[in-house]
Amino acid sequence: MKSFRKELFFNIPERMDLIDITSDVNTALKESGIKEGLCLVNAMHITASVFINDNESGLHHDYKKWLENLAPFNPSPTHYQHNRTGEDNADAHLKRQIMGREVVVAITEGKLDFGTWERIFYGEFDGKRRKRVLIKIIGE
Ligand code: ZN
Repeated sequence: MKSFRKELFFNIPERMDLIDITSDVNTALKESGIKEGLCLVNAMHITASVFINDNESGLHHDYKKWLENLAPFNPSPTHYQHNRTGEDNADAHLKRQIMGREVVVAITEGKLDFGTWERIFYGEFDGKRRKRVLIKIIGE
């Protein structure tokens, strides 16, 4: 069995944004030389997500609005207990939880074995700083 590891780096200028990283994962898959196996992609931060969905701008707008309704940005320590630590990112922890930590995609004949509209996204909820995503590919 072969194993391949790569990190992607981000420094998103917005506090919240959703970035299509499918081409980066495809590049890693080509570099790995693995034809049959599994590909794990996970955020290495507790205020960011990796998830699979549609690359449609209206949907991305809907996600941001929905997440901001669920967990609005509010640095006040009276609004979120987590912000009593001196941080201001309680909302980002909550947004990350609902959007997920990681995805696993099957690799078949050297390709990511996606459903028709599936793409992989990095979800940033506490941006304006350098962050990482891990790609781990195992197989043959
Ligand atoms: Zn925090």
